Amino acid sequence: MVVNKKTSSFSSSNNQNHRRRRRPVIQTYMSDSIKKPESRVDSFKSTAPTQQIKKVGSVSRRGNTKNKTHSNSSKRKTNTRTVQKRNGEQVNKKREIPIHPAGDNIRIIPLGGVEEIGKNMYIMEYQDDIIVMDCGFAFKSEETPGVDYILPNTEYLEKRKEKIKGVIITHGHLDHIGGLPYVMHRIGNPPVYSRNLTTIMIQKKYEEFKDLEPLDLRVVENDSRISLGKLKVKFFGVTHTIPDSMGVIIETPFGSIVNPGDFKLSHVDGKPIDEEEDAYKVFDTEKVLFLMSDSTNVENPGFSTPEHVVKEGLDKVIKETKTRLIIGTFASQMERMIGIINSIEKYNKKLAVEGRSMKINIEIAKLAGILSMKPDTLIPSEDIEKYPPDRVVVLATGAQGEEFAALMRMASKNHKYIKMSERDTVLLSSSVIPGNENSVQKLKDNIARNGAKIIHYRTSEIFIHGSGHGNREEIKWLHKKIKPKFFMPIHGTHYMLRMHAQLAEELGMPKENIVVPDNGTIVEIQDGGNKLVRLDLQAPSDIVAVDGFSIGNMQDVVIRDRQLLSEDGIFIIVVALNTRTGKLRKSPDIISRGFVYLRESQNLLQESRVLIKKTVEDATRSMNPVNFDIIKAEITDQVRKFLLQKTDKKPVVLPVILGI
Ligand SMILES: [Zn+2]
Ligand SMILES: [Zn+2]
Repeated sequence: MVVNKKTSSFSSSNNQNHRRRRRPVIQTYMSDSIKKPESRVDSFKSTAPTQQIKKVGSVSRRGNTKNKTHSNSSKRKTNTRTVQKRNGEQVNKKREIPIHPAGDNIRIIPLGGVEEIGKNMYIMEYQDDIIVMDCGFAFKSEETPGVDYILPNTEYLEKRKEKIKGVIITHGHLDHIGGLPYVMHRIGNPPVYSRNLTTIMIQKKYEEFKDLEPLDLRVVENDSRISLGKLKVKFFGVTHTIPDSMGVIIETPFGSIVNPGDFKLSHVDGKPIDEEEDAYKVFDTEKVLFLMSDSTNVENPGFSTPEHVVKEGLDKVIKETKTRLIIGTFASQMERMIGIINSIEKYNKKLAVEGRSMKINIEIAKLAGILSMKPDTLIPSEDIEKYPPDRVVVLATGAQGEEFAALMRMASKNHKYIKMSERDTVLLSSSVIPGNENSVQKLKDNIARNGAKIIHYRTSEIFIHGSGHGNREEIKWLHKKIKPKFFMPIHGTHYMLRMHAQLAEELGMPKENIVVPDNGTIVEIQDGGNKLVRLDLQAPSDIVAVDGFSIGNMQDVVIRDRQLLSEDGIFIIVVALNTRTGKLRKSPDIISRGFVYLRESQNLLQESRVLIKKTVEDATRSMNPVNFDIIKAEITDQVRKFLLQKTDKKPVVLPVILGI
């Protein structure tokens, strides 16, 4: 259960034939700063930090990476100049990051995952080799309204593509694999190593992106040993909520670098079971130089609820429920999903599945050979009414109260086939992710309004949910087991990382051997493995967002506008201007959304119109020809001040001038 032992389908011997599928356009073994002659337009393509200029490069789901660098050439030239100018400024401001760590120094950089739960990506660099661990994405946050996903900033890697010997993926959750389709072609598409199920999940994800270069996927297992460049790497199985999760051990001359990935422990009353002891046995003899590990649940005391206890709890509910049962859980909790399906079959019930991610993950589990189902267990939702209610279990996504997910639609009676009623029991087998409290409450209210019975983990005496991440005592166990010389907490917000660092100190580690990083922090182990140093220099870490079809560093101004729009709305002014006389052809039109209720603000509008007219006519008085940009800036300025004065709000003011 803990360790899915499978025969090794990959061994180090075929490591030699690393095919580098794509050569970077130009040599990237050079200093970070770009000191190329201005005429070298192509320098823009691969070494310039293109994202800083604007969102460039697009990966459409319908697939299209080709137009990335082939925009029309005049546009490219302009960009080149800007890039170089900006770089000139940058070089003056910042010192450059040396392309290689000096001598025997080992460099470790979290590119993402240490200021949030999400977008995990960690790199280890030694001499000519870079090994990447995980490549996730994060969902949008309050600071980045309107974008789809946030990616780790990979600029550091893009400049060192040729050094990258492999990307190791610890497990199939989106905060560890979600970034791959957006990132891999930017870093030279190196081989990707992961276990069987993870590999299948990555393949599935890639099916959404038809035109992307195929990945060079290589399956490893717990007992595989591989060579990546001059470095030897081995793995160990860990328990998480998805099968085939693994930890990584990278050997260096001074001891090994260890990253267990997301983990919890299977235990009985706080005593890890034998399989766990077995999986970690390798550390009895391993000299561990550096550990980076999961901080998610460091604040929770004791041990987490092991999955086998959750499985028993759910089994009991499935057995005893005499009504139709609707179970809301995460599709990512694959172990639990499989357990639920097994119980459904055990009690001869039928299963209906609602939610795309749940359907996909059932398919993946079958493909990976970890789930087998009788052919008649699964029924389409439209047939539900054909079975007695106590014979049917619905497995649905949306336990976080997501507005358009299956559960919410059932609860608000918007679902085509399943409408909740007092004859239903709804079981929410998930915790509330911080930030989702309101939407979960709304979901529960809607369910309750239907008269359905709700079983949630807080109210249930039986265990129906356990987190996928170890609690404080499990984290302690890991530290004692692995006995690292140096330590860096990862996978968490800054506060969680601090708590984890404190815990390491409590366990006896000297403060100077611990580093609490930010995204982009460069950590070096120097002096032949004797000193832990946090460099002053940082790898680029500005936000990279997937926004519709484009990817790039979100320009602050776009994000700021969206924040303003969401808070104070928008105020659009349309002015029809006689460009000859500089007079308005008619009174300005005003359109506003999310700012004030227009019907009740006629005075405000009237005063605004007068102000706009005066502003435009004052501005154009001595202007020949009329300069639209200056007039727009004037209008924006005056109207903004006026609205702030009158309403104490700062809507986005957007003037449009029609020259007639
Ligand atoms: Zn995970
Ligand atoms: Zn994770």
